Amino acid sequence: MLTLPRGGWRRFPRIVPVNPPTPAPSTPAAAVNADLHCHSTISDGTLSPEVLAARAQANGVQLWALTDHDEIDGQHRARNAAHALGLDYLTGTEISVTFAGETVHIVGLGFDADDAQLAAGLRATRGGREQRAQEMAADLARVGIPGAFEGALKYVGNPELISRTHFARFLVETRVCGDTGEVFRRFLTDGKPGFVPHRWARLGDAVRWITEAGGVAVVAHPGRYRFSPTEEYALFTEFQAHGGEGVEVVTGSHSVSEYARYAELARELGLVASRGSDFHSPGESRIDLGQLPPLPAGLTPVWERLTERILRAPAPSASRSASRSA
Ligand code: AMP
Ligand code: MN
Ligand code: MN
Ligand code: MN
Repeated sequence: MLTLPRGGWRRFPRIVPVNPPTPAPSTPAAAVNADLHCHSTISDGTLSPEVLAARAQANGVQLWALTDHDEIDGQHRARNAAHALGLDYLTGTEISVTFAGETVHIVGLGFDADDAQLAAGLRATRGGREQRAQEMAADLARVGIPGAFEGALKYVGNPELISRTHFARFLVETRVCGDTGEVFRRFLTDGKPGFVPHRWARLGDAVRWITEAGGVAVVAHPGRYRFSPTEEYALFTEFQAHGGEGVEVVTGSHSVSEYARYAELARELGLVASRGSDFHSPGESRIDLGQLPPLPAGLTPVWERLTERILRAPAPSASRSASRSA
């Protein structure tokens, strides 16, 4: 039996939901337009976090994450820009890892952006990029392409984050190549001029930095790695043993058959599935923000695992009510 307080229900202030559920309950989680992988000028993208947020919103994205390489410096800007536009936000980064002699990327989502261990791990991972870039430039000079370090630097927004993408832009600018795709076919990759082997973070460390900061670790674009089936199996086994939980199924780097292949892998291994364009630049990226197909059926979206970690855009009506009652 309910007991009314003295004065009746009116004595209670109107209940204002602090975390209103978005999307509306009628929208299944899998139908949310989530784009959880892209890059800003803080790594190797060409747009600022604010311009990316506006582009995401214009393209219908409802839940967004900025995932700069080895860097979380843009997280507060990205979240603020997302919220100003009514987008829900998950914190993000994409960590460079060396596994079985290959570079593997691990996306982290929904972590605490102020976590000290994660910040230190990312700082250590960024360290060494400048030295590597100098060696890349020296190697390019040996095949008759001088000035590549200074040339790449012109495109760099964050001095700690000089990457192969910045070299690729320089090689397109100087007409050595017609586009960045051609650059990566002829240069900067294993066995080609300008490639310098590099040791990135360890898989277990990257997963631990993310999960101990409250986030979920996701293997980015697995279709891109040149692993044998045995090596790929080892990657996922070790990833899960360290506490990794997700795999990118729908990404700008996958073909339609790879969507199906990694959907099957997610089901088999009990991994949650992620979706992200990996957008870098309007002139370079094949897939724009929010323009990917939905996740295949029968998968658990990573954002369902991260419900508590989603930074919800303030609902306009809720904030009006809150200011009235204040
Ligand atoms: P880095 O972290 O310096 O090794 O640079 C890696 C970045 O280079 C990736 O995140 C992509 O943005 C870019 N990249 C690598 N391979 C390719 C490719 N085949 N086509 C276009 N961009 C690529
Ligand atoms: Mn990149
Ligand atoms: Mn990547
Ligand atoms: Mn990426």
